[in-house]
Amino acid sequence: TRQIVLNSRPQGWVTPENFAMREADTPELAPGDVLVRHLYMSVDPYMRGLMNEGGVAYAAGFRIGEPLFGRVIGQVAQSRNEKFREGDCVYGMLDWAEWSVAKGGESLRVVDPHLAPLSYYLGTLGFPGLTAYVGMTLIGKPKEGETVYVSAASGAVGQVAGQLARIAGARVVGSAGTDEKVRFIVGECGFHDGFNYRLFSIAEALRLYCGDGIDVNFENVGGANLEAVLQVANDFARFAMCGMISQYNLTETYHVRNLNEIVSKRLHVQGFVVRDHAHLIEPFIEETADHIARGRMSVAEDIVTGLENAPQAFIGMLQGDNLGKRVVHIADR
Ligand code: NDP
Repeated sequence: TRQIVLNSRPQGWVTPENFAMREADTPELAPGDVLVRHLYMSVDPYMRGLMNEGGVAYAAGFRIGEPLFGRVIGQVAQSRNEKFREGDCVYGMLDWAEWSVAKGGESLRVVDPHLAPLSYYLGTLGFPGLTAYVGMTLIGKPKEGETVYVSAASGAVGQVAGQLARIAGARVVGSAGTDEKVRFIVGECGFHDGFNYRLFSIAEALRLYCGDGIDVNFENVGGANLEAVLQVANDFARFAMCGMISQYNLTETYHVRNLNEIVSKRLHVQGFVVRDHAHLIEPFIEETADHIARGRMSVAEDIVTGLENAPQAFIGMLQGDNLGKRVVHIADR
């Protein structure tokens, strides 16, 4: 199998030289093991943190000379585990590769290929969707008539977060980095308004588009975005702190301004990590597949073909060249 390994650790922005492709033998299966042929593979912002020495607070990092790993949808090619049969479509935490062995079947879960396109299990019906659900439903808790603001709104998490808020009856405003992305969130996802943050002062745009202030902030970006939201937020607003993608490639600490607003406005600011809520995935998939089937929720994916293109697919996503969930297509079922 071809695999992509970590060649070096990035200093600042990730570059193609941080990755290397290699050929590896597929190991023999021990009892309990499952051989998976990869169909789709996810590239996600959190992987940037795993490229650093020591990884992140909640997960160990990638190792030099070892394959990177992430969420994969594949098909069971051979099984020595009674829970999985040859031909089953499965989800798992597996290598950046064409094939891999899930030791003891660990991390594998069977997915239904008839419920939705398989790639959706990496996006709207996967952990990005569940992330949106946790942040919006358990922390943001938007009520009818409230104003919700979502940054990186066209992305994998953002598009679901905004649509969940709309379904809850809130007024939803999103921001994104191109006019096309803004057209997607307003035209297809039913956001009430949106703006291209590259063209405006974010605080001015928020004052214009969120005339009644912000009651729920779904934070995907951090930095200047967060500083602006702090200025425009209403008293007692809820902040679901999901990510800070504007910071992941910085080499120096960013000092966020306006934090005093947390005190004076009595804000509820709550960070969260989706893996703490992994047990919710099955009911989440059922509920969300129903939203999609009934036309209440739109899905945008951005599919790049070929394992060899995974590094560039990942780098490009960090820079915003994706419209919707970025996945890498490796093989057909
Ligand atoms: P996306 O599909 O949203 O892709 C990343 C997007 O981030 C880019 O397309 C780009 O869109 C935007 N972006 C990149 N740099 C900047 C910048 N400097 N300022 C503003 N926007 C920027 O990725 P995900 O949906 O997977 O992730 C979104 C966020 O959610 C990330 O912060 C991620 O870390 C976080 N996350 C958190 C999880 C948790 O458990 N807490 C789990 C999963 C994700 P644009 O063109 O709009 O700038």
